[in-house]
Amino acid sequence: MHAASEPSGSHPTIETWRAVSRPARPLIREVLVNGPCTRTELARRLGLSNGSLTRLTKPLVQSGLLVERGIVHDPLNGHPMRPLDIVAKDYHFLGVKLTSDRMYGVVTDLRAEVVAEHSEPLGVRTPEAVAAQASDLRDRLARDGFPPVAAGFTLGGHPPADDEAAEPGLFNAPFLDWWRVPLESVLNDAMGIPCVVRNDVLALACGQHWFGVARGLSDFALVTAGAGIGYALCRYNRILETTEEDVVEFGHHILDLGGPMCPTGHRGCVSAYLSTGAILSAAAYGLHRPVSLKEISRRAGEGEPVSGDIARQAGWALGALAASIANLTTVKTVLVAGESVDVIRAGHRHIEQGMSQRRFRAHRSIDTPMLSSTFTDWARGGAVEAIRTFVVQEDAPTGA
Ligand SMILES: [Zn+2]
Repeated sequence: MHAASEPSGSHPTIETWRAVSRPARPLIREVLVNGPCTRTELARRLGLSNGSLTRLTKPLVQSGLLVERGIVHDPLNGHPMRPLDIVAKDYHFLGVKLTSDRMYGVVTDLRAEVVAEHSEPLGVRTPEAVAAQASDLRDRLARDGFPPVAAGFTLGGHPPADDEAAEPGLFNAPFLDWWRVPLESVLNDAMGIPCVVRNDVLALACGQHWFGVARGLSDFALVTAGAGIGYALCRYNRILETTEEDVVEFGHHILDLGGPMCPTGHRGCVSAYLSTGAILSAAAYGLHRPVSLKEISRRAGEGEPVSGDIARQAGWALGALAASIANLTTVKTVLVAGESVDVIRAGHRHIEQGMSQRRFRAHRSIDTPMLSSTFTDWARGGAVEAIRTFVVQEDAPTGA
């Protein structure tokens, strides 16, 4: 805790942030995401008068949530000014990503820098047992000296969309066979710190938007290729909500009517090219034995023909998909993430080819930054959701 904020010996809690007034929250977000900023510049960015800005920042500085950094001089008139900042290391957040068989956890500071990390196999897969396991994971990570004040959980799933009168906080996670589970309250009870639950792809997009490769972009898309296909779209600095149905449609969007078949029996869709299952079964079919994604990407790089062809198709499919997204939404950046990323990367020379077949002006290329194929960024997305929900307190997503 910063020395000016609380009497020594007290532990920081999330309540200090939750007490921040609603009009001051955009200002917290600005400093948190974009870094130290002078009052004059903050007023300009947020469209506030200098007087209003001063009124909003005063209690935040007094309580230690904002601190003044060293003097800089106004480029226009040379007046000395002290940029406002947050103290990132004062607060820590737990981010957890659940897959069908593992739990990935990170602890981050207030600017989503990872300070501790651990993953382990998932034990009993009831919501209560997973919550208890997450509580143990938190204790283990906190031993490094960074007890988290809030947690964000991310997993493949969505709030139920079927009836609008449903009580808030319910969550469906088909891959764990969880239906209408009051997951946030189960987690709150087990963890003893405020918890938020969020679709993993939307959380990853938010994490990359605030503290990752999409920082500073008001518009971008994210495609994830792993056990399932995921999609997120950010327009005007806002990540659009999706439902389970939206994502299923996206995963079966057809890229080539003569392409490989997906498990539902239709041909050439995104998941038939890019899902882990499709890639692994194509490789097993060609090589007459089971192989891992890692081996496919390695052997593709070595020139082995079966792996090379799978990587070529994955690269082409990603290029065609990115071009379709760009043509329909006007975004110029499509982030790529998920377990299949390394195979797509092995076929990177074919991404341009897929794009140029879908672009009228083929030279107007689309940027496709690729994240790591590990789950660290996904867990970090959970921590960013906790920061977004409990520090910045952005309004809860509307809709489903
Ligand atoms: Zn399909």
